[in-house]
Amino acid sequence: SSSIKRILVTGGCGFIGANFVRMELEQDPGLSITNLDALTYAGNPDNLADLAAEPRYRFVKGDVADRPFIMKLVAEGGFDALVHFAAESHVDRSIEDATPFLRTNVIGTQNLLDAARAAKVPRYVQVSTDEVYGTLGPDDPAFTEDTPLTPNSPYSASKAGADLLVRAAFHTHGMNVVTTRCSNNYGPYQFPEKLIPLFVTNALADIPLPVYGDGKQVRDWIHVLDHCRGVDAALRKGISGEVYNFGGRSERYNMDVTKAVLQLTGKPDTLIRYVTDRPGHDRRYAVDCAKAESELGWTQTVTFEKGLADTVAWYKANAAWVDRVKSGAYRNQEA
Ligand code: NAD
Repeated sequence: SSSIKRILVTGGCGFIGANFVRMELEQDPGLSITNLDALTYAGNPDNLADLAAEPRYRFVKGDVADRPFIMKLVAEGGFDALVHFAAESHVDRSIEDATPFLRTNVIGTQNLLDAARAAKVPRYVQVSTDEVYGTLGPDDPAFTEDTPLTPNSPYSASKAGADLLVRAAFHTHGMNVVTTRCSNNYGPYQFPEKLIPLFVTNALADIPLPVYGDGKQVRDWIHVLDHCRGVDAALRKGISGEVYNFGGRSERYNMDVTKAVLQLTGKPDTLIRYVTDRPGHDRRYAVDCAKAESELGWTQTVTFEKGLADTVAWYKANAAWVDRVKSGAYRNQEA
């Protein structure tokens, strides 16, 4: 059995964090998880409501940017590992106002690193994104872990800043840290401001689908559970100081994803609305995850076609979750 018995997860009420918490508790009966989440607009207690009676799960409401609070929580927690998902995560919001991105993504990460070091937490995992690598031309090779960081949005710049602080904690303080960089996730519990859940929920409600620019942006899509398995592999098997990329080997044009959503929901292409492109919109992301495959024994298990069909089915079957997110009702509760 694992030496990891107690994990502090941050951002567990968000999309990926919620999937990760549920996966970990299911796969390891000896594990307990504390979920620290500030419950911003993206934090939805409904995502883990089914764990309310689970004794191995504890929710703590708090802000990673609140340094005294974080220092105390980590000092008293007796954690074997800290897995940091909490972030401001939406590019469009970062273009509107970068301030919360610096506060949560940069300062919050340094607070957690300092707290983990002070409490001698044996393992720290930074959950990052392929967007820190910038953008690719149509024929460029995919991002590897050695691709220079050239982020283009305030969001990705703040995540790159956090990654560099993690790197510094390894080199300066000898902390045991691992960083994961993953491509675009999709799956259950994703807040419907991101492309796939926005388009699925709009299509199901016969609301138009706003496609940025020419729709020819290329993204690599990975099912959230494959990403969660990657974070788990990095947590348990990753070499300290290393970065591991995760991707879905599923590069798709945004327009093709849009058409697939319309097909799966049985809605007409006339729902498509072209809207002015996002300023500075990265053209293409593609991730080389050979290192994770060879060094962590990780591999994708969900194809994009199967994963997208399952995801559309999940949003259809969870109309109450969708209604509470879209109406804002999910915000009127504590945990
Ligand atoms: P999300 O926006 O769905 O969830 C973020 C969570 O963090 C929310 O529950 C929110 O309440 C919480 N949070 C925000 N600010 C906080 C603060 N100051 N203190 C404590 N909690 C706070 O995000 P997600 O899509 O689940 O992404 C999780 C992580 O994975 C992020 O670090 C993101 O950069 C990274 N990532 C996401 C993707 C993707 O496709 N979604 C891809 C690669 C990496």
